[in-house]
Amino acid sequence: MNRVHLDHNATTPMRPEAREALLEALDSGLGNASSVHDSGRRARAAIDEARERIGAALGVQEDEIVFTSGGTESNNLAIFGAIEAGPSDMDVITSAIEHAAVLAPVQVLESRGRQVTRVPCDTAGRLDPGTIVERLESSPAPSALISVMAANNELGSTTDLEGLSDALGMGNGRQAGRSGIILHTDAVQLLGKRPAGGLLEWVDLATLSAHKVGGPPGVGLLLRRVGTPLGAQLHGGAQEAGVRPGTENVAAICAAARAIELAVQETGEFAARTSALIKELWKELSSALPNVHLNGPPLSDETRLPNTLNVSMPDAGDARMLVTRLDLAGVEVSAGSACASGSLEPSHVVRALGHDLQRARSAVRMSVGRTTTKAEISTAVDRMCITLGKAS
Ligand code: PLP
Repeated sequence: MNRVHLDHNATTPMRPEAREALLEALDSGLGNASSVHDSGRRARAAIDEARERIGAALGVQEDEIVFTSGGTESNNLAIFGAIEAGPSDMDVITSAIEHAAVLAPVQVLESRGRQVTRVPCDTAGRLDPGTIVERLESSPAPSALISVMAANNELGSTTDLEGLSDALGMGNGRQAGRSGIILHTDAVQLLGKRPAGGLLEWVDLATLSAHKVGGPPGVGLLLRRVGTPLGAQLHGGAQEAGVRPGTENVAAICAAARAIELAVQETGEFAARTSALIKELWKELSSALPNVHLNGPPLSDETRLPNTLNVSMPDAGDARMLVTRLDLAGVEVSAGSACASGSLEPSHVVRALGHDLQRARSAVRMSVGRTTTKAEISTAVDRMCITLGKAS
């Protein structure tokens, strides 16, 4: 059976060009980039080149890129690092729909006594810059770390980061952030799907992950605007300007650079292609199955992620059971984010939309990628109908 992978937000296949870059680097006898001998210097040169390419693709300076082991580590470094480097009375403002890699570190801070405010989303899963600023202004603390996601992995809703940065008085971007405010965004799901070129014009810290754009898993980036205070969370060598010590994963970094370059170049084409596929998926699903509800922004919302569809099918029962049944039928979807898949609770993101428990419990995310075809969409819908006992 040819399987249909509709879970590209969890991970997407590696690009052939990234694989080639990975193998080339592995085969070329690169050493430890901190060593002074020839193989070490070649490894250093390979990392320098990767950094240069990523900088050019994302419109950031090379010294604004910190390589990490993934999106999870970048979020942890941003959150704990900003709090460590900031004043002791710094508040945290975040949202109710963050990924576990932000939710969990913020919970740790809260358990240590840090004041945390969680901003709600609207019924389509969007965060309002005005509400974030209101919460900031009603807080007595003179300084705050704001961590809000650029694009939601489950719903496809996005945040108006430019509007938020303006509303925070950080409008002139690079010139100077508003004093006492550090703005971090988890942009893991934005890259390659919507233009992400101006990220450091709007925020101080931005998290990215290579495996979401056709690079290898295990490589992340934390973009850090020059001058943003950040305490290292690992201690050891002087790699990554001392902010993230540890011998670099050179081959994976080279592959990540290739994937990121291509993802940025192809963003417009990706958006057009995947948005047509998602519209087709919704059309076929909603005409074949009764009682299907769209969660998150309407498909007409131009700011939404083009490749993501979240639906509730209350008649199909618990989403986690449905995911298993669909897996047996050769269709890969998810209930909530992959990182929360061990949990029995309904998705906190769908709950945050204000729907009833049954709708939250039956919410399934489908996400398409650059390898998805229209034929796969029809096959997936046919298999879903068979699984649910309905003829399509
Ligand atoms: N943030 C978001 C929004 C994600 O979707 C993910 C992965 O699902 C992560 C962070 C974690 O990234 P990584 O898998 O690279 O640790």
